[in-house]
Amino acid sequence: MIVDCHGHFTTAPQALWDWRKDQVGNKKPDSRGPKISDDEIRHSLEPNQLKLQKERGSDVTFFSPRAGSMEHHVGDAGISLAWSQVCNDLIHRACRLYPRNFAPVCQRCNLNPDPSGGYWKEPPLTDKWWYPVYEKLVELDVPAMVHVSSSCNPAVHFTGAHYINADTTAFMQLITADLFKDFPTLKFVIPHGGGAVPYHWGRYRGLAQDLKRPPLKEHLLKNVFFDTCVYHQPGIDLLLKVIPAENILFASEMVGAVRGIDPETGHYYDDTKRYIENNKSLGLKEKEKIFESNARRVYSRWKPA
Ligand SMILES: [Zn+2]
Repeated sequence: MIVDCHGHFTTAPQALWDWRKDQVGNKKPDSRGPKISDDEIRHSLEPNQLKLQKERGSDVTFFSPRAGSMEHHVGDAGISLAWSQVCNDLIHRACRLYPRNFAPVCQRCNLNPDPSGGYWKEPPLTDKWWYPVYEKLVELDVPAMVHVSSSCNPAVHFTGAHYINADTTAFMQLITADLFKDFPTLKFVIPHGGGAVPYHWGRYRGLAQDLKRPPLKEHLLKNVFFDTCVYHQPGIDLLLKVIPAENILFASEMVGAVRGIDPETGHYYDDTKRYIENNKSLGLKEKEKIFESNARRVYSRWKPA
């Protein structure tokens, strides 16, 4: 079985985005949420995520609301709560329509380390400010994907810079503190291949050493996992070489940030399954962990339909 642990409902029906526009604009949105039929949900998934699953040969996608639209920097907690509920309800409905293809992930399981949207005004993820979220995650035994939303800082492009910066920044925050001593069973998935972390693994090992922190493997790798949303073969080869196979979860984030075809290969950039299959350094046993059994371990509450 091929489990894609990172997908968003980027193609949700227009009524969802119209509802949000009303919510953050001057109009009062319908308190019952946007009016969307089951057929509209089907039409938004079948020519997109479902078609690509079939073509590429993945079986199930862990499916959450569109990350760039979480927008914790817009409005107050009440606005975010209502928006999360509307988005989560839609995810629930999509997953009920296609229970074999999608497993639901709620908006709050995308843990946004920068709710200010590109200005980094909140404390680091290791600060006690975040602990109520972690207490809930541990109680429910669900992992969090460390995932920012859109950037309202014009100097920081959202999917090209903000996402990758945040993945890297979160990992460095974890090095400098003892979060997993307080929460030994807390699990984080750092998406987009862990940002710059695998590429600069020597830097982070060296920094940990200089800062008198434990070696990364014992300090973080019982709790931190990386996905495979890296969109070229050399990048995946590096990830698979540097990070232990036990800590890597297959993901593509389709239909997401990069939607085109790579003229150098003739294949979609985000068809990440091919890169893992074509990788020469890992054997079938390790690849099976990446494709399936690691996801079962990390997302321990998930049972295939
Ligand atoms: Zn994402």
